[in-house]
Amino acid sequence: MNVQPDLEFIRELKTAGGDTLKKCFQCATCSVACPLSSDKKPFPRKEMIWASWGLKDKLVTDPDVFLCHQCGDCTEKCPRGAKPGDTLGAIRAYAYQQFAWPKGLARLATSAKNLPILIGLPAVVILFMWVLSTFIGGLSPVEIFRKQVEIGHPQHFWDFAKDGYQYFFGEWTFKWYGKNIAFIAVIMGVSSLIAIISCWMGVTRMWKAMVADMEIKATYRPSLWQFISQFLWPSIWETLQHKRFKDCKTNYDRVSGHLPLVLAFIGLFLATCWSLTKNDILGLIWPSLHGPMVWWDPFKLIANVSAIAMLYGIWILWKTRRKMEAEGRASNTFYDWFLIWEIAAVGITGLLAELLRWGGGFPLTGYFVYYLHLISVMMLFLYMPYTKFAHIVYRTVALCFERYRTSSFVQ
Ligand code: SF4
Ligand code: SF4
Repeated sequence: MNVQPDLEFIRELKTAGGDTLKKCFQCATCSVACPLSSDKKPFPRKEMIWASWGLKDKLVTDPDVFLCHQCGDCTEKCPRGAKPGDTLGAIRAYAYQQFAWPKGLARLATSAKNLPILIGLPAVVILFMWVLSTFIGGLSPVEIFRKQVEIGHPQHFWDFAKDGYQYFFGEWTFKWYGKNIAFIAVIMGVSSLIAIISCWMGVTRMWKAMVADMEIKATYRPSLWQFISQFLWPSIWETLQHKRFKDCKTNYDRVSGHLPLVLAFIGLFLATCWSLTKNDILGLIWPSLHGPMVWWDPFKLIANVSAIAMLYGIWILWKTRRKMEAEGRASNTFYDWFLIWEIAAVGITGLLAELLRWGGGFPLTGYFVYYLHLISVMMLFLYMPYTKFAHIVYRTVALCFERYRTSSFVQ
């Protein structure tokens, strides 16, 4: 076999957490220790040798790389300290870049050196939209601040608590659609659309590459319904249940961090959907439905409980990661920390903005924290396909591919 190592690829792996991969001497202890590895198709020993040979194409089309969820059981048992769990994480980070669109944005999200740009980009976009909103009809945010939220004026003390942040982008007289909603919908809608297109292109490229690499020939094509019911839905359900996570031993604590996070995202998704329906659809018929949810609104309660669950989950993950690194069971990488920082920023700024609102009387501080919150939310949406967050999508598709590959649809 003529091996053509990609040295650039090996270098990238080393900087992304695979710095110890050359220590591997192929004893296969890791494959025995891995709770997800099967006898027929063991991993991560084979990935370790492919990585040290620089076999980039083989690795980015290997479903096992995406099935791993970095529990660290293999790293714990490795007699050479080669950290196979981190090496697989580094391969995944590289694969997301390879499959991603647009490539420039994906490359940007891979290094701590780019943090000023990663934070600056949404900060400038939101600021630009804020300035733009001062020129587009109705009252500008500055006029709103002056008119309605006079700092220190006792008679306006609770206006801020009542109105919330609905005047961040000002107000217009068009009663069917709030100015704030329109601006937020554009900012977050475009960011989400980029993320959805990028994920779709990424997983499509990954699927095609896996089919080509394994020379899979379909006996007949599943219908859309068969694909969803037999492959996609069971994979989504398995991901949501954290079924395989529970097989991990070394870092079992992570389950108690991951699960609240998943439930928090589901809760926040439901609250956002209700807010969009209330403001963007029902608000067109009943304009009085525009504006922030009152605190006793069931969806507001779900949102607040979810925010607390998010902070609790991320605190557990933060603690677990720190402990793993301190004990030498994981490497300190930007890939692992960026998502933790992002989620912590969303949770902290969201909760702080809420507390400042209910405290009344601190509108300027509140509005500034709300601005930071918008930046962190936009970052989460926009960079989702290129960060560790993408794992949820790629892993579900890899699970789906495994089901399809071993099904009767394939020869
Ligand atoms: S990574 Fe460690 S446990 Fe796995 S084969 Fe290499 S030396 Fe052995
Ligand atoms: S990190 Fe966990 S799931 Fe991934 S290869 Fe190692 S033992 Fe298996």
